[in-house]
Amino acid sequence: MRHMKKYEFGKIEKKWQSKWLKSKLYEPDFKKAKNPFYNLMMFPYPSAEGLHVGNMYAFTGSDIYGRFKRMSGYDVFEPIGLDGFGIHSENYALKIGTHPLKQSKISEKRFYKQLEMLGNGFAWKEHVETYDPEYYQWTQWLFVQMWKRGLAYRKKQSVNWCPSCKTVLADEQVIAGKCERCNSIVQKKDLEQWFFRITEYAERLLHNLDHIDWSERVVTAQKNWIGKSEGAEINFAISDFAQIIKVFTTRPETLYGATYLVLAPEHEIIQKLQPQILNFGEVKKYIDTTSKKSEEERTMGSKEKTGVELKGVTAINPASGDGIPIFISDYVLSGYGTGAIMAVPAHDERDFAFAKKFRLPIKIVVQGGGLKLAEPQTESFSGMGTMVNSETFDGMRSEEAKWEIVKLVGGERKIQFRIRDWLVSRQRYWSPPIPMIFCEACAFAGVYEQKGMPGWFAVPENELPVKLPMVKDFRPQGSGDSPLASVKSFFKAKCPRCGKKGRRETDVSDTFLDSAWYFLRYSSASNKKVAWDPAITKKWLPVNMYIGGAEHSVLHLLYSRFITMVLSDLGLTQFEEPFTKFRAHGLLIKDGAKMSKSKGNVVNPDEYVKRFGADALRTYLMFLAPFEQGGDFRDAGILGITRFLDRVWKLGQRVIEKKKIEKDENRERALHKTIKKVTNDIEALQYNTAISALMMFLNEIEEKGATRKEFEAFLKLIAPFAPHMTEELWHSLGNKASIHNSGWPAFDPEKLIEDMFELVVQVNGKFKARITAPLGIGEVDATAVARKEKAVITALAGSEPKKVIFVENRLINFVL
Ligand SMILES: [Zn+2]
Ligand SMILES: [Zn+2]
Repeated sequence: MRHMKKYEFGKIEKKWQSKWLKSKLYEPDFKKAKNPFYNLMMFPYPSAEGLHVGNMYAFTGSDIYGRFKRMSGYDVFEPIGLDGFGIHSENYALKIGTHPLKQSKISEKRFYKQLEMLGNGFAWKEHVETYDPEYYQWTQWLFVQMWKRGLAYRKKQSVNWCPSCKTVLADEQVIAGKCERCNSIVQKKDLEQWFFRITEYAERLLHNLDHIDWSERVVTAQKNWIGKSEGAEINFAISDFAQIIKVFTTRPETLYGATYLVLAPEHEIIQKLQPQILNFGEVKKYIDTTSKKSEEERTMGSKEKTGVELKGVTAINPASGDGIPIFISDYVLSGYGTGAIMAVPAHDERDFAFAKKFRLPIKIVVQGGGLKLAEPQTESFSGMGTMVNSETFDGMRSEEAKWEIVKLVGGERKIQFRIRDWLVSRQRYWSPPIPMIFCEACAFAGVYEQKGMPGWFAVPENELPVKLPMVKDFRPQGSGDSPLASVKSFFKAKCPRCGKKGRRETDVSDTFLDSAWYFLRYSSASNKKVAWDPAITKKWLPVNMYIGGAEHSVLHLLYSRFITMVLSDLGLTQFEEPFTKFRAHGLLIKDGAKMSKSKGNVVNPDEYVKRFGADALRTYLMFLAPFEQGGDFRDAGILGITRFLDRVWKLGQRVIEKKKIEKDENRERALHKTIKKVTNDIEALQYNTAISALMMFLNEIEEKGATRKEFEAFLKLIAPFAPHMTEELWHSLGNKASIHNSGWPAFDPEKLIEDMFELVVQVNGKFKARITAPLGIGEVDATAVARKEKAVITALAGSEPKKVIFVENRLINFVL
């Protein structure tokens, strides 16, 4: 035997990476491609430590799918870029005492180098970086389109403020009351900010969720976030006062049971009622305390309810005419609904707890659930049932009474959404400046571009980009102003309308605006005239397969849908959903624990690639568990994969030596079974079981070898997982073109049929049935099929056989 070539992954991987790049293997022809397939992964933000193994996990899973599609005959476009603008990169620059402008170039180089080493089939030519003025020129252009459409506005409102990031945040960036970036407890501040009217799209955003193929957990998260509820708005009059309180309720049928009202402490009517309120001092104190609490603190279910009655004022229940007390309580939020609720303690758990604490009347108005409710109740009943204590409605079904009662009191049917408008301005530095100018003279004269906002004008499109200036002290100020607010050369501007002195907006836009449209830019990345080429976009988009983290469910994934919908309304795209298919990948942990720097268990992909090669690391990551579930990384585990790849390599050397191999039906059948399994598993992102099937097939052929054709088919199946090694073997076998363009092997269903025999089934040695079964069927499977036979069921008569005699490929006998 001649000297066997050792598998030197270091050399081989580098060699193919540079060959692929040179031959433009992964660059699609945007115009000529016949079978476009846009395979996208969420682009990373270049983090401080370089590529995280979690990024690698996600990218590998996405790349395997892309490679599989390419081999299946698609023109796959798999681009990559960097989401490098934003607080995260800025904070890192602050931490290491450098400037983000400078740092972004360093991170970019490092990140791209690491990404290259993974061996992904990236179309490198079309990379985009959100901090590149050629990119953010279009982010600003997008802002202007939103403004022109009336979807961008400025308003003073109680907003989320992160004291540590020193900026406002969108609702979506507040996770359980904390800043999603730095985990600080978020405060409330009254500030004038820029918003996008995402609420105008709430119904459509919700509706389309039933028509896109997305991971169920993301769909559910978006549905809950949008939070549609149907109900009615009902007016409650106030005794001796010409004001009303509007209440939104989803249960108007329980109106007769409303025994008090609760207002959010911020409710504007409280100030108007001040002269009437006898205990205003106490009320004021409660309002102040509330303003220091986070929304999360206020709405936590288990916590004991607090509140203060507005003494001296009474509301009138419009159905019963009863006078009822009014409270303020922090569990009612001003931003949702009308900021006021009617409390029906008999039929609502929260109201019940509140009523018990403040000894308020509890009045049953719906009887149901098979139990006769009696006072005093021990818990509330929230189901449907029969109306009681509701005058003429008594005896009606509560569902029927619902809208009748609304009619009676002159209420209005209403649909309410939980989602609020997207707060898009930030008081930071490292983001695109918001392209707006304010002119005092025009404001004074009442000149406007958008109603209700005199003096505000968009920067003319031919003046974009508004470049982010080099600012030495880019630290956040904490004053509610961006660092740009102290850069005179930046904010000095001419009014686009009257030409007089104007002032540029100094806030920058939310990073999530950068990423809300990047998938539109990739295929037109080098186009300097338009944000995206209409013809290419029509051909290549929407994205066919998008893979990313579920943590973006109500952030990036929601914003992208919203922006795409707006663009479709503006006639700028032909589709209103950006991602036809989305799959959320699972989370990677290490030795059973979440990876974190403080625990010192963060896997550094560089190190592992150096030690084991990218192919081994890729295959190992995918072998851990189903891709959508995530996996537990263990150092010992990777050795199993290294051994597997080594064995494939060695077998490859033997095949290359052209030892004559006899045809074998069993082997052929095993191959076709493997092709079928791997094909189906990859399509379903069940990479781990695909790899298991490949390992099993290797066991089958390792000793006796395989024909060259069989081995080539096997290599193709491994190619998406281990692209370098398979390419090397493929070429060593004499193939000239790349394995990654060689076509996916097809399985022949006829080859899957196994040889059959007649299995004789007996009970107590007596013949009962004959069953056609595959040769080699084991005792467990044979028992299972035999016991389904009618004659056997009758003979066993429900009792368990004491013994089973099984003769392979002949008979099975159940002994009672
Ligand atoms: Zn923060
Ligand atoms: Zn002006």
